[in-house]
Amino acid sequence: MAKKGDMLYAWTNDAEIKKKAELGGAVTALWKHALESKAVDAVLAITKGTDLYDAKPVLINNPADLARTAGSLHCGTLLLPKYVKKFLDGAAHKKIGVTVKGCDTMAFIELAKRRQINLDNVILIGVNCGGSVSPVLARKMIADKFGVDPDKVHKEEIDKGQFIIEYEGGHKGISIDELEDAGYGRRSNCRRCKYKVPRQADLACGNWGVIGDKAGKATFIEVCSEKGAKLLDGAVKSGILTTEAANPKGIEIRAKVENAMFKLGDKWRRKDFGALAGSLWETINRETSRCIRCYSCIENCPVCFTAAADLKKGSLMVKPGEVPPNPMFHLRRFAHISDSCINCGQCEELCAMDIPLALFSHAIRSEGDAAFEPKLGKAPYTN
Ligand SMILES: Cc1cc2nc3c(=O)[nH]c(=O)nc-3n(C[C@H](O)[C@H](O)[C@H](O)COP(=O)(O)OP(=O)(O)OC[C@H]3O[C@@H](n4cnc5c(N)ncnc54)[C@H](O)[C@@H]3O)c2cc1C
Repeated sequence: MAKKGDMLYAWTNDAEIKKKAELGGAVTALWKHALESKAVDAVLAITKGTDLYDAKPVLINNPADLARTAGSLHCGTLLLPKYVKKFLDGAAHKKIGVTVKGCDTMAFIELAKRRQINLDNVILIGVNCGGSVSPVLARKMIADKFGVDPDKVHKEEIDKGQFIIEYEGGHKGISIDELEDAGYGRRSNCRRCKYKVPRQADLACGNWGVIGDKAGKATFIEVCSEKGAKLLDGAVKSGILTTEAANPKGIEIRAKVENAMFKLGDKWRRKDFGALAGSLWETINRETSRCIRCYSCIENCPVCFTAAADLKKGSLMVKPGEVPPNPMFHLRRFAHISDSCINCGQCEELCAMDIPLALFSHAIRSEGDAAFEPKLGKAPYTN
């Protein structure tokens, strides 16, 4: 019987899932079992849209349809809890299973705290996430840095610190460091992220730590809750999944990689926040002067959604209809989320005017953390 804290290698025995899966296909196999056993009524996952750069959310309630959600789309920058809140009634009446990255997991928790989602009706299978790549920038990166037509690429993956593409006529990998030094690579909020293994989900799945003959063929699973353990046991019992204890050396390697990712996150925080040293408010003022007041940052924020109606109505400082809005429009938003920005990057990713909104709210959040939780240290951009 699995229990919280267990670390396992897992692989599916379902031929169709195995063919499409990123690694051992454990995530998709677990969802298939969850639907078949009625542990959930539907699964919300990601599937390929018009091309490799177009990740789209899909709600599945027929187990036979699940295989199309297998595989990792590294240009998938969606935040799934928003859909549960907006279109699935916050899981008030249905049991929903969702595949989540670290940012999705945090957003679920923030929305549950605000009574927008009923976590009792939700099962979260987490995937470790080293970061995702913006779809628009990915196409440009592939053309400029790889010298390949992005429409000719049929597979992308991130492995051993490289972004790798397979295309008509070959395959090519370039180190993420080199790509990021040239202004490409992962989204800037992902570079600063230090939530790589989503342990607040029910299970955390990934490839870090899978070594030996299982490398590339099994999924590493850390069991994070009793709910996760129960789902895993059921899937093994049904025959769709096989597990074995993770190799102790693999567990060690996984911890080292996670630690290296924390250090990388700190490096990017120092760099990004350092560039704001002494000029945070002037920079916010300048950058937000391009704002066209489309409210996308508010609509897509898992934390500050309540501010929309308020800001549309206007106030003494923020007049309705004024474009660009008075800087107080953004300052009120930043103040509103200053203790709870999860650095998911949705505000920036979906900003029509490319305003680095996630950078500002993450910087302000970090400043607050440093002020009120001294053990976290001084914010790196503070004078
Ligand atoms: C953007 C991204 C970065 C990752 N980085 C790492 C890493 O650095 N280290 C590591 O150990 N593992 C990482 N993973 C996890 C890894 O790629 C596998 O998803 C995981 O090991 C599960 O493998 P599997 O064969 O069991 O999954 P599968 O059975 O193939 O299922 C994959 C699941 O992921 C969902 N999915 C695909 N793309 C996305 C997306 N963009 N956002 C949310 N869900 C998605 C699918 O819908 C499906 O439910 C990353 C995954 C993603 C999506």
